[in-house]
Amino acid sequence: MNITVVGTGYVGLVTGACFAEMGNTVTCVDVDSTKIAALEEGIIPIYEPGLEAIVQENQKAGRLRFTHSLEEAMEESALYFIAVGTPPGEDGSADLSHVLDVAAEIGRNLSQDAIVVNKSTVPVGTAAKVQAVITEQLNARGVAFGFDVVSNPEFLKEGAAVEDFMRPDRIIIGVESERARQVMADLYHTFSRNHDKLMFMGVRDAELTKYAANAMLATKISFMNEMANLAERMGVDIENVRKGIGSDSRIGYSFIYPGCGYGGSCFPKDVKALMRMGEEYDFETRILRAVEDRNQAQKHRLFEKLTERFGNDLSGRVIGVWGLAFKPGTDDMREASSIPLINQLTAAGAVVRAYDPVAMEEAPNHFAAELFEQGRIILCDHQYDALADADAMVLVTEWKPFRQPDFNAMKKLLKQPVIIDGRNQYDPYSLKVQGFDYSGIGRDFGD
Ligand code: NAD
Repeated sequence: MNITVVGTGYVGLVTGACFAEMGNTVTCVDVDSTKIAALEEGIIPIYEPGLEAIVQENQKAGRLRFTHSLEEAMEESALYFIAVGTPPGEDGSADLSHVLDVAAEIGRNLSQDAIVVNKSTVPVGTAAKVQAVITEQLNARGVAFGFDVVSNPEFLKEGAAVEDFMRPDRIIIGVESERARQVMADLYHTFSRNHDKLMFMGVRDAELTKYAANAMLATKISFMNEMANLAERMGVDIENVRKGIGSDSRIGYSFIYPGCGYGGSCFPKDVKALMRMGEEYDFETRILRAVEDRNQAQKHRLFEKLTERFGNDLSGRVIGVWGLAFKPGTDDMREASSIPLINQLTAAGAVVRAYDPVAMEEAPNHFAAELFEQGRIILCDHQYDALADADAMVLVTEWKPFRQPDFNAMKKLLKQPVIIDGRNQYDPYSLKVQGFDYSGIGRDFGD
């Protein structure tokens, strides 16, 4: 098939590369010409395991190309994927401007019957808006072509995006016509050979399915964080509780790890957007409000733990931070828990020495430039450099090299043997024996 994918971010680039890998001819389009220029050279602007190889191989094979001209790409194909960002607007609702800009451009350039597939996460009713915008442009041109708008939300996880796209749990496809259903079935059957993963439904059903999935996952995390904070006050070890409840097959082990809050480009914005949808339908989403509130508060837990130890004035203190990305496996720092933590630390007078295996280049985009200029945030070359003369080490992102560190070396480097473990990676009992002052999330047993 000849496919156009608009937007070359985490979702668009992975979608385009994976369709090309299966033998399709794919043109990826982006308004960001710097990104397109880099991609044309085989340079991948994001960190995503396995992506570089399939992009380069498919480029070489002539199945994958990049352009900033949607008009040009549309000449070659009649199947268009929209995979542009839907960032949160000021009121928390999803900002549809990029999606509707693409729809308008499709309408201005459509010259044959086509299928427009929306892969971006969008509120219920967006497919109808996309349809209306395209129709308006066609009417203005005085032309008529048959086109369907399909909803095909994406469920990939950053850090495992290629693997998730190639071996999805399910493929949700919202369609309103038999023609669109057939085209989507033909496109995706190769990703569904092991067992039938295609789930066809109405477009509005598909749109809500994506939000419901992310909201459910966010709910599990916030619920567990609430239990962890309670456990801490009770002197209970939340890790035992986690294993105890995870063994119940109705609950399961996934997404019940307590921590310092969820971040990323999806959960925070999608929970807020779903709350806004509730308001539009005059429905109070009480659970979602609690999920969001708990997450906001959880992002302050690590800072609170530090001020509980050192007091509110952290002037003269040095804090070593391990992990800046919102989760391991990605350089994405959008809504990462490291951001409010580091901003709070520097505002309280501390100097932060930080290290992340892949997000170091990304870091300067998320903090005020003067924090770097004044040496209040120091980006270190190595995880152990970040601990030099530090009053405490804080684990924010559980990258693998952080999971079994050299505690002897850490103890020598740290001015005080304080470990604040935002992801419950370490054994509090063993660290206590080694002389560390340890605090995890829901496992802070004092002296
Ligand atoms: P992103 O910000 O990484 O990439 C979006 C890209 O779209 C950017 O390169 C931008 O330049 C481009 N763009 C914006 N307007 C454009 C236009 N008019 N024409 C062409 N290109 C344009 O975004 P992302 O993380 O890939 O997310 C895309 C969508 O997929 C969002 O709705 C998101 O919620 C959803 N999603 C994301 C993930 C994830 O893990 N990142 C997972 C599932 C779903």
